[in-house]
Amino acid sequence: MTVAPAAGKRFEVSMPVVVIGAGAAGLVAALAVRAAGVDVLVLERDPVPRGSTAMSAGLIPAPATRWQAAAGIIDTAELFAADILAKAHREPDAAVVMHLAETIGPTLEWLADAHGLPFDVITEFLYPGHSTYRMHGLPTRSGVELVQRLSAAAEQAGVMIMTDARVDTLYADPDGRVCGIGFARPNDSRDEVGCGALVLACSGYGGNPALVSRHVPELADALFFGHEGNQGDALVWGEALGAATRHLSGHQGHGAIAHPHGIQITWATITQGGVQVNRDGRRFADETLGYSEQAAAVVAQPDGIAFTIFDERIAAVARGFEDFRQAEAAGAVVTAASIPELAERLGLPVATLTATLCAVEAAQCAKATDAFGRDFSRTPPLVPPYRAVKVTGALLHTQGGLVVGTDARVLRDDGTALPNLFAVGGAACGVSGSQASGYLSGNGLLSAVGLGRTAGLVAACAVKAKPVPHGDDAHAG
Ligand SMILES: Cc1cc2nc3c(=O)[nH]c(=O)nc-3n(C[C@H](O)[C@H](O)[C@H](O)COP(=O)(O)OP(=O)(O)OC[C@H]3O[C@@H](n4cnc5c(N)ncnc54)[C@H](O)[C@@H]3O)c2cc1C
Repeated sequence: MTVAPAAGKRFEVSMPVVVIGAGAAGLVAALAVRAAGVDVLVLERDPVPRGSTAMSAGLIPAPATRWQAAAGIIDTAELFAADILAKAHREPDAAVVMHLAETIGPTLEWLADAHGLPFDVITEFLYPGHSTYRMHGLPTRSGVELVQRLSAAAEQAGVMIMTDARVDTLYADPDGRVCGIGFARPNDSRDEVGCGALVLACSGYGGNPALVSRHVPELADALFFGHEGNQGDALVWGEALGAATRHLSGHQGHGAIAHPHGIQITWATITQGGVQVNRDGRRFADETLGYSEQAAAVVAQPDGIAFTIFDERIAAVARGFEDFRQAEAAGAVVTAASIPELAERLGLPVATLTATLCAVEAAQCAKATDAFGRDFSRTPPLVPPYRAVKVTGALLHTQGGLVVGTDARVLRDDGTALPNLFAVGGAACGVSGSQASGYLSGNGLLSAVGLGRTAGLVAACAVKAKPVPHGDDAHAG
């Protein structure tokens, strides 16, 4: 990944706006560019747009939406922003947080009205750190549906999407203005295109072991459960162009990836009253603090393994998620009529597991807080038959990145904006701060979808004000 001088370059083809990456961030940015009547080209390295977005449950938090109103849920941008900042230890840029909290609701309603995405709000359970029910999802609760619907909407809106196009070079002027990009095509062929504005929507660096070792060392040996295309290209280009970076240790982990099946087990299994034990049959943390920080806690257990234990009531809730249904179909979810049978099926010491689950039951019946600080007052005791899944902890995606303002423009260390560069989603510094514990459920798609729309609108506006030359007139300086 390089930044090369634009001096002397001629681009036979130029587009007003080019977007690198066709995950949620890039597709929403492109839709916003088209909504402003401006042409846009999206370049995606994979044969089909998927990204981390397709691996997610596609759940996006938003306050004060019409779906919340219909369900009688009272919520505000201020409350949402306060939740984000509290979870992230007040580290994120408060202005960016407030911008996202204020714009994400209208953005989801725009995607529903203009592009037919049938969102609704999840009221079955509350995600850790959210003051109220505000996670919105599509019918299957899967990111595959999200990215497929966004891709279809983009094509219908006239967005040009070129797949099998891995961008490897940015051509820039000395002041940091990006004049065009170069990309590799299958069969070793190459192409170049000029641009008036460039949106980096090519996500973070979770798939780059060297960058993970440097910035997230506690998960250097953990499973990476995001998209392998997240190689840190935006970070490398941004740094070369003089962009500021922040919170590079920030990330979203997950403490329950079915092992060895490699299927994410919804954290509803925990928030509804389930617990995790290690190979010794002992609990090791307050699981309700959040699934993100639980990743490192699980990885630190013997063999990096834990067992999520719940019951049929909770399994019925979890079946609302495609991933959980797949886990059941794959045989990852064990059923046992009693604790001894559960111990035998999981290969755990029966005496310790019995003591652990009896202590949990006592806390649940007494509605007490346990020694780890977990509050058991809100969930009923587990009842047989038990369900359990063997899991490991994983890195899902990184949350640090290029510093952006509320207009999604990439900023230098001195706070000035690069001339025509935008970063969105995993490419930008998110709103989770520098620690895994700062990740509030939904922060990933919040900045993908929220910043994506902002970048598209601002970039479109900017190129309308200063049109990019086309064809032979394109940048030659
Ligand atoms: C298992 C899992 C579950 C998750 N669940 C949730 C959830 O429920 N809610 C939530 O908010 N977040 C969730 N997240 C996080 C969320 O998926 C991401 O934050 C979000 O999808 C990021 O969107 P993006 O568009 O920035 O990146 P991506 O969706 O990863 O898209 C980036 C795209 O850029 C392409 N690309 C990369 N480099 C280049 C290049 N050089 N040239 C061309 N193309 C390139 C990639 O191939 C990829 O398609 C989850 C993540 C994972 C892995």
